[in-house]
Amino acid sequence: MIRKPRGTMDIMPEEIPEWRFVEETARRVASKFGFGEIRTPGFEATELFQRGVGETTDVVQKEMYTFEDREGRSFTLRPEGTASVARAVIENGRCSDAMPLKLCYLINCFRYEKPQAGRSREFFQFGVEMFGAADPSADAETVAMAHTLISELGIKNVSLHLNSIGCPQCRPAYRAALKAYFNEHIDGLCETCRARLDTNPMRILDCKSPECQAIAEGAPKTLDHLCPDCRDHFDKLGGYLKAQGIDYIVDPHIVRGLDYYTRTVFEFIADGIGAQSTVCGGGRYDGLMKELGGPEMPGIGFAAGITRLLLAMRESGVKVPAPAAPALYIAPMGDAAKVKAAALTAALRSRGLTVDRDLVGRSLKAQMKYADKTGARSVLIIGDSELENGKANLRSMADSSQSEVDINDVDALAEKLK
Ligand code: ATP
Ligand code: MG
Repeated sequence: MIRKPRGTMDIMPEEIPEWRFVEETARRVASKFGFGEIRTPGFEATELFQRGVGETTDVVQKEMYTFEDREGRSFTLRPEGTASVARAVIENGRCSDAMPLKLCYLINCFRYEKPQAGRSREFFQFGVEMFGAADPSADAETVAMAHTLISELGIKNVSLHLNSIGCPQCRPAYRAALKAYFNEHIDGLCETCRARLDTNPMRILDCKSPECQAIAEGAPKTLDHLCPDCRDHFDKLGGYLKAQGIDYIVDPHIVRGLDYYTRTVFEFIADGIGAQSTVCGGGRYDGLMKELGGPEMPGIGFAAGITRLLLAMRESGVKVPAPAAPALYIAPMGDAAKVKAAALTAALRSRGLTVDRDLVGRSLKAQMKYADKTGARSVLIIGDSELENGKANLRSMADSSQSEVDINDVDALAEKLK
């Protein structure tokens, strides 16, 4: 018996309505905000992620699925979407389009992680990226889009955590202060964080280990080290969010895992879904396009994990509308009736109806039971005498009431079933 790879999932038909609900809601919200959809390859040159995600990140250091193709080139299954979208914008010559460029995507991503609730090795994301808008109103718009998505999904148990991590002007001084502070507490840090101290000290702020969290409590805060421009940006963003009726918590521990972030970083964090509680994370990445060989161009975006959105929806008691029940189940008895049933099924489907029929030769009783299970609203039984008369009884499954229909008048039958 061959099993699926660890940390992957089979999404079975019963679960699909939930997934579609999330995907359809995401696409609807995106188009309401004027975002077009983009699709990029599932794997890219490894260097794209090394440069675009950052050498010092967990993603690049230990989570990528990297392989050599038959000609010895190094490729990596996409661990996230932003770097690919930025590359596609540059490669397709869209940097000179009217700004801002607003793009969204629904993708699968791959990261070699320890699987647990809300964390898998292949997972699904809805993401958005906005290029060419440096103004804090663009940050507010991006946050508002995530906020709208979460509220249209019916998720109630989340809060928005907001921070600014500064820019290349103010970050060196902050990093130095942070390093000095953590150096004083180096003995209390976990092993991973001790290694991070030199390469990426900001990541210690969002380490999940209790010892590191306790030390991080007293660490210098980015917000106290912002340059005047970053401070002004953060304050204006707060003003826009207030005007848009979006509540937030200023949270100095939100630093995001990825290297290319500047200024605004945010997470929507859910209660009651376990340790993997960040349903959506995002921020500004004004340095990314240049890093990837494009022009100097600001950007901001977010990505939401679909499985975590689903966990939060369940926690909020959201009931996804069931898919439409079949209008009709045709129960043929005998070979001639089976052929008639096939013709009727095709004719009714071509008139837009959802119709099913027996394909395995069940007894009439078993067919009725099966029809009930499919949720069919009505059943049409066709046997030899019905074929002869051209008339059959249409039985409503809700109240067992029957009415006679002409099985050769497809238009009238379709009208009746609508
Ligand atoms: P985390 O701290 O949970 O590892 P991250 O910072 O690595 O998150 P991002 O790269 O910002 O996550 O990805 C955006 C979103 O994608 C996350 O907020 C989460 O909802 C989802 N996500 C990330 N990694 C996984 C995973 N392995 N399994 C399921 N969902 C994930
Ligand atoms: Mg991660």
